Amino acid sequence: MTSEVIDGVSCTQNLKAALAREVEQLHRRGIAVGVATVLVGDDYSANIYEQRLRRLAAEVGVEYVCRRLPRQARQSDVVAVIEGLNESEDVAGILVLRPLPPHIDEADVFRAILPDKDVESVHPENAGLLALGVPRFVPSTAAAVFHLLDTWIDSTGSERAEFYRRSHIVVVGRSNNVGKPCVSLAYDRQAAVESIDEWASKTGQLGRHTRRADVLIVAAGKPGLIAAEHVSEGAVVIDVGINPRVDADGRTHVVGDVDFGSVAPRARAITPVPGGVGPVTDVWLLHNVVTAVRAQRSAGVREAS
Ligand code: NAD
Repeated sequence: MTSEVIDGVSCTQNLKAALAREVEQLHRRGIAVGVATVLVGDDYSANIYEQRLRRLAAEVGVEYVCRRLPRQARQSDVVAVIEGLNESEDVAGILVLRPLPPHIDEADVFRAILPDKDVESVHPENAGLLALGVPRFVPSTAAAVFHLLDTWIDSTGSERAEFYRRSHIVVVGRSNNVGKPCVSLAYDRQAAVESIDEWASKTGQLGRHTRRADVLIVAAGKPGLIAAEHVSEGAVVIDVGINPRVDADGRTHVVGDVDFGSVAPRARAITPVPGGVGPVTDVWLLHNVVTAVRAQRSAGVREAS
């Protein structure tokens, strides 16, 4: 089978242009668009994401600040930074980059974010709205996954609603910020949905689940986890993973969770890493910040709970 590569970079061109226009319109009305990231420690993938967002923000005219804390920062220090950003009129959206160091309780940190500024929907209020199918903000990675799928389905001439209703979607990885939001968006599209986590691998059941997929979404953070034997002929494969790999010459580069070389020949369509989900995620995050600016202007910002 000749596989089609779903190119995230070309998919972003229209989204990026629309985003820049929206930011420009707000600027003309004297309204700034600002986002803040919070980065604790020096995780490789979090740093890569931070750099990408910084570059994109500069390109589209969004004001960007990254608040960096050392790996040994106390939880109260992280919460204090978030509370400062909640108060800041220059910041419409807040993104806490993951992973946080293990001594920090992620749920407590997320709860500190003002829901109106929680552009990744990690606060329980926003996560609940998402699970109910009425999201305030669609988390950017899951949004990117389904934007790529929607665009690809359109390109085949199929009808989107029909495609999803007939599809069995398997999501590998069940994190609150990627796996579960992907499941919620798949539910919204009336697909048959299966969610699996590391226990599927530990019990030797990974392939049994993944081979059932018409659409396989992989977000496990395990380089090369999915190989040819895990994928049925003709599946559509979306690789969310961003993992560092050190070459023989000592240089670090990014690889996904899917072994592209072996899986691509079996897949009907597949996203590459880099250049697949990542670029779309970045644009979506800033799009959510624009949504936050508009909502905050019309409603006024509430207290964090
Ligand atoms: P996470 O560590 O929070 O969650 C990983 C999930 O995968 C867990 O549910 C875990 O049980 C599951 N898992 C781990 N090993 C597994 C295995 N062997 N088999 C099956 N399931 C397994 O990670 P996350 O934040 O969800 O991120 C996942 C990956 O996606 C990472 O590589 C991350 O860097 C990447 N990511 C990419 C983007 C993007 O824009 N492309 C955005 C966010 C995260």
